Amino acid sequence: MFRIPGKQNNRVRYIHDMYTYYQDRRGEGLTFRCATRYRTNCSEVIYLQNLHNLQEQQITVTGKHNHPEDPSLLLKAQFDITIKERVRERAAVNEPKQVFDYMCRLDQFRLLFENGDVDYHHHYKHIILNIFKRTLPGNPNNLEELNEMLQEYRITRDFYNGMARATDDSVCLVFIHDDMLEPLS
Ligand SMILES: [Zn+2]
Repeated sequence: MFRIPGKQNNRVRYIHDMYTYYQDRRGEGLTFRCATRYRTNCSEVIYLQNLHNLQEQQITVTGKHNHPEDPSLLLKAQFDITIKERVRERAAVNEPKQVFDYMCRLDQFRLLFENGDVDYHHHYKHIILNIFKRTLPGNPNNLEELNEMLQEYRITRDFYNGMARATDDSVCLVFIHDDMLEPLS
């Protein structure tokens, strides 16, 4: 069994044997119900001994799902986690499509693209843009560090022109539109 950070309203999902489950917190003990039960009426429930060592643990399966398993479930979840990590790391430099295209080239996810299991335009484009919006550069300690951040930062890099250093070693950061360079020169 694998624990996957939740998609919507941050609910944690569990993947076991090509099916997804949510923990049922109302009952006693560790009860997990099929994640699709409201849609499919599936009543499959599994039980765990504890929440440690999920991958090596004895899992009690009660019956059968009334819908087919999804062989690429785990891979899709791994893709989802990996692309979000990458977007957060590289939010300062990449366009959304560049991040997605990078993921396409990774061998481990090749199958998902061949099967058309991951969608850029209707799904990941929005997710990536949302993370971009929420991801800001860190806190610089001085203008030199701010200079380095601004060169990479997507929001300002088009009109940030760099750092100028005076003879007394004081510095200034220059924000200017390219069209203004000529009149001012
Ligand atoms: Zn089910």
